Amino acid sequence: MKIAIFSAQSYDRHFLEEALSRHYGDGSVELMYHTESLTRQSVALAQDCCAVCVFVNDVLDAPVLEALASLGVRAVLMRCAGFNNLDVAVAAHLGMFVARVPSYSPEAVAEHTLALILTLNRHTHRAYARVREGNFALDGLLGSTLHGKTVGLIGIGKIGLAVARIFNGFGCRVLGYDPITSTEFAQLGTMTALPDLLAESDIVSLHCPLLESTHYIIDNAALERMKPGAMLVNTSRGALLNTGAVIGALKSRKLGALAIDVYEQESELFFQDHSADIITDDVFQRLITFPNVLVTGHQGFFTVEALREIAETTFSNLACFLAGSSCANLVPGTASLLAH
Ligand code: NAD
Repeated sequence: MKIAIFSAQSYDRHFLEEALSRHYGDGSVELMYHTESLTRQSVALAQDCCAVCVFVNDVLDAPVLEALASLGVRAVLMRCAGFNNLDVAVAAHLGMFVARVPSYSPEAVAEHTLALILTLNRHTHRAYARVREGNFALDGLLGSTLHGKTVGLIGIGKIGLAVARIFNGFGCRVLGYDPITSTEFAQLGTMTALPDLLAESDIVSLHCPLLESTHYIIDNAALERMKPGAMLVNTSRGALLNTGAVIGALKSRKLGALAIDVYEQESELFFQDHSADIITDDVFQRLITFPNVLVTGHQGFFTVEALREIAETTFSNLACFLAGSSCANLVPGTASLLAH
């Protein structure tokens, strides 16, 4: 039985092979690795496979899902938590088994969020470069003490809660906005309406999924409500920010700093080495010219523990599919038990 692994990097191969030998050491499952992402153009690579295994920027829209179904692919194993790249209704209509990894290490993403904030606040990236050149001047490296500051979290699910725990330890005041009330969060901070969170926070960090209701949740109006000079952090999904509006707020100095691990058009750039290419995305290029902007290429999840857990859960999900048993990790909105 063959599974086509799309967007496969060497690290995916390493952790998937490790888990494969634990689950299917008998050689009954063969993994076909493709560095290409899954698109309408590359879908034919899934020929002869019963399942595909995909990541955040693989396309799972109606034409791709229909093409997969016509090739005989009956399962989609997502190596990620978010499923904004999936047409849920079409997958359900086609009776496809679509499972994800809802929680592999919320702390990994929370800790990366912290790394971005500390780097941007204390300019350690600039200090590192300076010291290597023998420049020990402190001009331009002034930060602010986080203790006592207000941190606003939009989305207090698994990752938001992990971030709240960290900032609680820092002695920050933590505000949270989420349509669902969290009793766990009540120990760490205060639930607040979104306009109040934006107005009161020194740091606003996004931890909600990309949905119709959260698309451009940070737009001109939201930026206008924010404290002058506040820091904005997005480690969730690129389209939570209207990037054009954010650039405007950076240019007017309304926004003090921006850290992003995700970008709306990231599928054209991230996870590949473009260092010898001409990057034609002018919005992205503008963004990285600001001294108070820090961009990482969707690496919040990228820890040994998280990759091991992603591979492990992916094979547990496959086992459910093959056994025809119920699967706790089915993408919400797709069927709970599928005949195949
Ligand atoms: P989760 O489902 O545990 O929590 C998401 C929370 O967002 C929930 O509490 C939900 O009620 C809330 N929410 C929904 N709509 C909202 C809205 N309009 N406003 C505010 N909150 C809203 O998910 P999680 O595991 O905490 O992950 C959050 C997001 O992080 C994922 O959806 C994914 O996009 C992103 N993520 C990024 C990386 C990375 O490598 N950078 C890795 C994993 C996940």
